[in-house]
Amino acid sequence: MNLQYTSTRNPNSSVTASQAVLKGLADDGGLFVPERIPALPVSLEELKDMTYQETACTVMKEFLTDYTKEELKACIARAYDEKFDTEEIAPLAKVDGVYYLELFHGPTIAFKDMALSILPHLMTTAARKNGADREIVILTATSGDTGKAAMAGFADVEGTRIIVFYPKGGVSRVQELQMATQKGKNVDVVAIHGNFDNAQSGVKELFGDRELAGRLEAAGYQFSSANSINIGRLVPQIVYYVYAYGKLLANGEIQAGEKINITVPTGNFGNILAAYYAKQMGLPVAKLICASNENRVLFDFFRTGTYDRNRPFKLTTSPSMDILISSNLERLIYQICGRDAGVDAALMAGLQAEGRYTVTEAMKEQLSDFAAGYATEEETADTIRRVYERTGYVMDTHTAVAARVYGKYREETGDGTKTVIASTASPYKFVKSVLAAIDPEAYGRQEELALLPKLERLSCVEMPGAVQEILRAQVRHTRECDADRMRETVEEILGLN
Ligand SMILES: *Cc1c(COP(=O)(O)O)cnc(C)c1O
Repeated sequence: MNLQYTSTRNPNSSVTASQAVLKGLADDGGLFVPERIPALPVSLEELKDMTYQETACTVMKEFLTDYTKEELKACIARAYDEKFDTEEIAPLAKVDGVYYLELFHGPTIAFKDMALSILPHLMTTAARKNGADREIVILTATSGDTGKAAMAGFADVEGTRIIVFYPKGGVSRVQELQMATQKGKNVDVVAIHGNFDNAQSGVKELFGDRELAGRLEAAGYQFSSANSINIGRLVPQIVYYVYAYGKLLANGEIQAGEKINITVPTGNFGNILAAYYAKQMGLPVAKLICASNENRVLFDFFRTGTYDRNRPFKLTTSPSMDILISSNLERLIYQICGRDAGVDAALMAGLQAEGRYTVTEAMKEQLSDFAAGYATEEETADTIRRVYERTGYVMDTHTAVAARVYGKYREETGDGTKTVIASTASPYKFVKSVLAAIDPEAYGRQEELALLPKLERLSCVEMPGAVQEILRAQVRHTRECDADRMRETVEEILGLN
């Protein structure tokens, strides 16, 4: 039996997995969710000996049931190969008694590679299966990491084009250069005069624009999404939590069945939702600890039951988490309201109209799987420095937010459960903030790119190929637009006028 997917806002919209991947977002603006979460099809003991690729196939075939096993295996083989700088794909580093699940060994050195190296293959396979012959135009809003990872994944993939919007001035220099130097005849990058939420709302609006959809269709195009609103992003992200559990078992760090905590530095709520899905599959997970930076809208939501985006947007040293509208939270809301599309749609209408909504007490009670915390800028920098001084391990700013929030959680609760921290980016990607945290006097005023070799010396970790590349590459993209001109920009790029 095929697992069907329905929109969080309309119970009558049932599509297959491949159709959901192809569409990205449901026509009613809702997100596709599986009608149930499948159980892990293997025992925990069996996970011990599985490679990353085998684990990926085991998990993904339960969700993407209308793909054949051969199709999935082919997608997996093309995604998780030498593009990653370690055979393990997602290694675990034990530092100071916690386990950092390093998700940044892919081609663009952030965790987005874990899903975006496979999404293009899932999508072109989906197009083939569904006889879709129009060119797929991937529209993507990025807070810095998704954009590059999506461009790298989709560059020169036949039958696709990709347009990325990022907030000008809201990303690190390394991130900006990574995007501006991207090769490929089907890629475009636009810096918008606004923040990430403007970019994301703009993209969602374009998806919902019926008139534009008609003109796209006439011109031989259809839109899809590479953001984590696409279920084809989330499913590959479940894999590494299952894999990490297998590795902890194999290394004798835990007993089969022993529960672990997972801490995730959170922005759009995609990565932690994948961990929640892993738990629902039967992975022994106790708490999911949601870590925010000073844009602590999720922390406030878990504490009060009110989601309220009406607050100043702060630019922090963890820019990939500078988000006030966490799209994937809608999938959790849908789950805790008893999968009632009417309730979900009403809450999301409140978010649209007033920028806020409040869940009922009964819904709030179902959030007990989660703990939440936030780290200030000072705490984040302090964590990078202290862990480095104590252990020599250098972590990036996003990971440091999670490490600090976990430290506070542990202190407050006394919960000694073994804990995995999702390590979402290489410190090279945020070299300036990282080195300024370690020694503000020595590094605080230097130009970002000049700091790269210094990080190499200090961390004893070789500069990743992705960074060496941008130092040599030529800038190819310089387009900018106002936040309210995204539609015109897309029309211009696609030649619709
Ligand atoms: C995207 C990103 C996050 C946030 O992940 P979400 O799935 O959006 O919650 C955290 N850290 C880094 C480095 C990222 O690129």
